Amino acid sequence: MYDAVIVGGGAVGLSLALALGQQQYRVLIIEKKNESVVVDDFQARTIALSYASKRIYECLHIWEDLSLKAVPISQVVVSVKGHYGRSSLKTDDHEALGYVVGANVIESVLTQHLVTQPTVEILRPGEILQRECTQSSWQLTVRGKHQPIACKLLVAADGIHSQLRQEQQISTKLMDYNHFAVLANLEMPQMAQETAIERFLPNGAIALLPWKNKAFTCVWTTSQQEALALKNMPEQDFISCCQEQLGKRLGKIVRVSERLAFPLTMNVAAQQSGSRFLLMGNAAHNLHPIAAQGLNLSLRDVWQIRSQLIKAKEPLDIGAQSFLQSYVNERKSDQHQIIFATDKIANFMSSQRIPAPFRALGITLFDSIKPLKEQFTQRAMGF
Ligand SMILES: Cc1cc2nc3c(=O)[nH]c(=O)nc-3n(C[C@H](O)[C@H](O)[C@H](O)COP(=O)(O)OP(=O)(O)OC[C@H]3O[C@@H](n4cnc5c(N)ncnc54)[C@H](O)[C@@H]3O)c2cc1C
Repeated sequence: MYDAVIVGGGAVGLSLALALGQQQYRVLIIEKKNESVVVDDFQARTIALSYASKRIYECLHIWEDLSLKAVPISQVVVSVKGHYGRSSLKTDDHEALGYVVGANVIESVLTQHLVTQPTVEILRPGEILQRECTQSSWQLTVRGKHQPIACKLLVAADGIHSQLRQEQQISTKLMDYNHFAVLANLEMPQMAQETAIERFLPNGAIALLPWKNKAFTCVWTTSQQEALALKNMPEQDFISCCQEQLGKRLGKIVRVSERLAFPLTMNVAAQQSGSRFLLMGNAAHNLHPIAAQGLNLSLRDVWQIRSQLIKAKEPLDIGAQSFLQSYVNERKSDQHQIIFATDKIANFMSSQRIPAPFRALGITLFDSIKPLKEQFTQRAMGF
């Protein structure tokens, strides 16, 4: 009997499996895709990990390996195109605000550590074919396993379109910002290293995260029409458009990677637990990427589960209602705050109703109110 079967081997499913495995719980991860292929750094998708996420990965003993491939963020500069309002967030000590890591690197480092865990198994490609829940366990028929298996807890960490969430008939609240994002990496040799940029535009915003080899990950939010045009135009035209929005101060863009365009939405499950069932990661709360908080929030969810196991001092039935309810109650406040703040930022970015001079004024005021700025910096770091 497994303590938990985790469906979905993305960063969240793998992090949860590691946290459980390190406490000697028996875990099976079922991932439908084969192991991902290694991608060239310039084409990689990147994730900004907060300082709190770094601390969590330190406690899970994987930070040492991740840090070799991570780029620190020492400051975040916020500005409005065409206006003087400008704010810069830094920490007072020498610690970075956060770190940028390749999404594929997080998954591969987690996998390397999981294969050394005696109580964790990874099945890929695998898939649940049939399932039935009794009061004490789940009985599962799984593609890739000869015999039916049983577990005390079934975790859906199967991403935005979670099939398990739909099968459990858990509804979601969808927030559609009527906006799209264009995602690409830019090579900008003259730009200050370790600096992240958030630049408000009349019709959206551009966020830049520092990445390797003088590259920066760019998330450009704009209307659907403009996003599709930006994705499909020739490389040099894209570089010119992006340069026009960023201005000359940050230096020249010399190269752009492949571009992706996708709609910006936020989707939050109406409930996160059920009978011996738990939603985690994007399946539970898929955040608008502009605040770079999706994985960071989910890692704090994982941290809560780990804390409950450690506090108990003896092996627990982690599918029991009391365990799941305690997790949901403890996570409510942090999740609500992050979802609320991300929604406000996303609306602020996509709103045509707030004229640019007011946005610039807001940023200048924010910059001059030290306690507010300190509080915001602390939240961005995941405290
Ligand atoms: C553009 C962009 C930028 C972002 N930047 C940041 C950032 O800077 N910082 C941050 O904290 N967050 C960021 N995020 C959010 C972050 O990427 C997500 O929160 C995180 O990747 C969610 O991980 P997950 O494991 O829940 O889901 P996923 O990564 O989607 O993994 C789900 C897994 O489940 C598997 N699966 C699906 N269905 C099944 C099935 N039926 N059976 C078996 N397996 C299945 C899939 O193959 C997949 O491997 C960003 C998101 C976007 C879109």
